[in-house]
Amino acid sequence: MKHLWWALLLLLAAGLAAQDSKPSNPGSVAVIRAGTLIDGKSDKPRHDQVIVVQGNHIESISDAASAKLPPGAAIIDLSKATVLPGLIDSHTHIFLQGENPAQGGYDANILNAPLSLRAARATVAARRALEQGFTTLRDVETEGAGYGDVGIKQAIAGGYIPGPRLFVSTRAISTTGGYPLEGYAPELDMPKGAQIVDGAVEARKAAREQLDHGADWIKVYMTHRSWVGKNGELVSQPTLTVEELRAIVDETHGWGKKVACHAYSGIGLRRALDGGCDSIEHGLDLDDSAISQMLKQGTWYVPTIAAYYTDWAPADTPEGRRDRLRASVHEPSFKKALKAGVKIVFGTDMGGIPWTEPMAQEFSRMTELGMQPMDAIQSATSRAAVMLDMEGKIGVIAPGAFADIIAVDADPIRDIKALETVQFVMKDGKVFRSELK
Ligand SMILES: [Zn+2]
Repeated sequence: MKHLWWALLLLLAAGLAAQDSKPSNPGSVAVIRAGTLIDGKSDKPRHDQVIVVQGNHIESISDAASAKLPPGAAIIDLSKATVLPGLIDSHTHIFLQGENPAQGGYDANILNAPLSLRAARATVAARRALEQGFTTLRDVETEGAGYGDVGIKQAIAGGYIPGPRLFVSTRAISTTGGYPLEGYAPELDMPKGAQIVDGAVEARKAAREQLDHGADWIKVYMTHRSWVGKNGELVSQPTLTVEELRAIVDETHGWGKKVACHAYSGIGLRRALDGGCDSIEHGLDLDDSAISQMLKQGTWYVPTIAAYYTDWAPADTPEGRRDRLRASVHEPSFKKALKAGVKIVFGTDMGGIPWTEPMAQEFSRMTELGMQPMDAIQSATSRAAVMLDMEGKIGVIAPGAFADIIAVDADPIRDIKALETVQFVMKDGKVFRSELK
């Protein structure tokens, strides 16, 4: 029995070491020639750089003119391209597929799709993200697919399927009346897309369960449903109380992890901030007091702008008016947050948007609303890495970081849309895609 325990301990230690930024294969060395290098952190690009990759990490970066190339290294010539760190999308749903009403919408995921089908589609979504240069995702809940994201993460980490590094949040938490499936006969006990809690005890227990089963983040829905109010304002229904949220935040922080809160506006948004959410997701209608509280508390803001421009209902319906209002209040919120210096992080809400669409479209939305292209790139690289407690390991091209490296054949500072066609993707030191001529 004692031997078994030692063997288990050793296995555990080996597993922990593998997660470190230590070389997985110290023998393999590659040299990347970068025509232009945007390193994810510096304000200005550098030119004619040489990146030495050893195993799964970056060993060194130097000027091409003075670089000493390690003998026998494989040369990857990106000298005509712009090289960047692998991108980070901090708000995705690999278990959703765009929710086309003609295909049954959201409810069909839960009512009709076998879990194996959902896992197969999530596998494709993960691959799609990697193909587009997103080497890390924070996936913010499985929408009724339980702990499926933990399994997909393990499959990627184990090398069974290609995909980005995943930070997963499993089932998510909301309250009674705070999540679909809804609109069915009250006699029916319908399954829900999130774990439903009422009261601080249940809230803390749900967080414990999810953390115990592998959640890297806890996702909480602080608002649900939205409509146009009497004075033309955006109203959203609040869900958890501050007391319920505080139980979740306290528990999650105790595990050294963080809480992401879906919050649109009004009472629910205020409770999200008072309860200590680490990131506000969407934040459609941020008033001045919300912004100053976010600054004071260091709250991250993941606006997911593009998602609110898709699938508008017809203009002359209540839903259509609501959809247009959401987009129109989002714009000044984003601009105010940007001006005030709130920590803005790139997120798409892919899954809500079909995975066939370019993820990088969010960059254009951000820059159209006044964000500088380099700032937008950092929101999807080094700044996201800090939020994920991975500073210096991802989202940056620097010695010691994982070798997550992408390239495009145009200048994304001049034309941010260049990031919609990534031609080279390396993750963990392994080339996944290379289409540069
Ligand atoms: Zn979402």
